[in-house]
Amino acid sequence: MRLRFAFTALLLTATTVQAQDMRRAAPLKGAEKSTGVPRTLPLKFEGPPTTGAITPLDLMTRLYKFADDSMMGRLAGTPWNDKGTDYIAAEVKRLGLTPAGDDGYFQHPLVSKAFADSSFIAVGGKRYALWKDFAPRYQGDSSAKITNAQVVFGGTWGDPPSSFLPNDEAIGKVVVIRLAKQPDGSTNYQLVNRAQLTSRFSNAAAIAVEQLDYVPPGYVAQNYAAPSVGVKPDGEEPVRKVPPYFYVTTAVADDMLGAPLAQAKTGAAGRTVDGYLHQTTGVAPGRNVLAILPGSDPKLRNEYVVIGAHDDHIGFNHEPADHDSVKAVMMHAAPQGADSPDPKPTPEQWAAIRVTMDSLRRLHPARVDSIYNGADDDGSGSMGLLEIAERFATAPVKPKRSIIFAWHVGEEEGMLGSGFFTDHPTVKRDSIVAELNIDMIGRGKKTDATGEDKNGKLLHGGPGYLQLIGSRRLSTELGNIVEQVNTRDKLGLKFDYALDANGHPQNIYCRSDHWSYARWGIPIVFFTTGGHADYHQVTDEPQYIDYDHMATVAKLVHETAVDVANLGHRVAVDHPKPDPHGDCRQ
Ligand SMILES: [Zn+2]
Repeated sequence: MRLRFAFTALLLTATTVQAQDMRRAAPLKGAEKSTGVPRTLPLKFEGPPTTGAITPLDLMTRLYKFADDSMMGRLAGTPWNDKGTDYIAAEVKRLGLTPAGDDGYFQHPLVSKAFADSSFIAVGGKRYALWKDFAPRYQGDSSAKITNAQVVFGGTWGDPPSSFLPNDEAIGKVVVIRLAKQPDGSTNYQLVNRAQLTSRFSNAAAIAVEQLDYVPPGYVAQNYAAPSVGVKPDGEEPVRKVPPYFYVTTAVADDMLGAPLAQAKTGAAGRTVDGYLHQTTGVAPGRNVLAILPGSDPKLRNEYVVIGAHDDHIGFNHEPADHDSVKAVMMHAAPQGADSPDPKPTPEQWAAIRVTMDSLRRLHPARVDSIYNGADDDGSGSMGLLEIAERFATAPVKPKRSIIFAWHVGEEEGMLGSGFFTDHPTVKRDSIVAELNIDMIGRGKKTDATGEDKNGKLLHGGPGYLQLIGSRRLSTELGNIVEQVNTRDKLGLKFDYALDANGHPQNIYCRSDHWSYARWGIPIVFFTTGGHADYHQVTDEPQYIDYDHMATVAKLVHETAVDVANLGHRVAVDHPKPDPHGDCRQ
């Protein structure tokens, strides 16, 4: 699932609870009980060959492989995503499913975007060093030239927007922005809103923000200098509509202004700047995997039920952390993982963290961890989907409509793969009757904070816990089918619709791949066991997954797909369809 807002994952996972900081307590009996961390599952596991049925053991076998450290977090745009999709493609081939990509089972939606070393900024003939003195951000789709542009001081970020330089006094100029400082001289680099500055100074020659001195070490390399992925453009030479944007050190800002930034008055003119921000794009690794099970009815087989998950996650952290420290801090101080505010433990929480750490240290030695395994997000959906595919492929009777199994890439980067597939479908778009999306179906225990209610109160899982999102937003009938399947097959699942409320601040309906389908008016159901403390942390590992529960959820999705595929009519759309190019609104 996608992040709700930019998160200081780097700072957070670097949190280490020092061993010497821990109070020596008497040895605990039943450490599992006292920590709430299930320790019944191993770190590594290799299972026997999988079977046709959807079983907890098969899911374990698959997920321990797919979310193994060797997959390096499966980030879209990296070879490690390809390593994950190699496994999926080999499996669907073994199962005899029909390729449904435009390159066999694959579709290649991604491009990599980077700045070439020839990028520069110069003031008075002096060139600054890329990534050290200035850090451009990918903005728009083309390179940008800055020629002899006048510098002007645009105002201080943190002051009211009315104090900023008016847009018409910034036309064709390089606008320098200062950051407001705390009394101790620190500043919050994360508060700068690029989109807001870009729209304010939409006709500037460039926007330069004094920020680079304030980011943590390693941040520039990981977040700015590393290539970012985007989706392939739709032909046509892109036109630059937005000014280039870059961060500078305070020294460079002073130099650009020819006077100390700290004393600058809004509108003050500075020196002149030249520059070239050379943006490059190239095909990036990372693939959609698409496979079809042909339907048995000669007419209805030309209609499709899509079952989807996402094959990517968020890679690895360049600053490793102690696994158990992250686990303990998040458990007690950030129960929704990256969906919680940055953890700032209270004294009581520190005490609980230390107790947990003590008991974890008794169970095993400290372990350095840097890989975002994404066992739940969305290893659980991806491997659940493989199990569902295996179930379909080995069943003697096939459903009337065809099934498309879709592993989307780049969900974490903005639902890139599902957006691309639904914009460039390999079957007729209106032949897709429904999409069932599975993203994070491996958790949902009583100890997991699965989300918030509309008033911000934490919700928790429990036996049979499953969230259904969007299941009646286009088709009441589709939402009803899921309920009927659960009752008829005695699956015992308990559906939580709280996160599906209109206007819910966590915005879950807009945060996974089903939206790419729903925007085209295709009815969807999003199945998820919801959030937890390991969400987007290095602690989202296969050892913490509830495989029994995951198997039940996968069975529900399978049976729902069977019902929808065998229905005498297309599931009825009885709600208005959204604008496919508009913004998602929950
Ligand atoms: Zn995610």
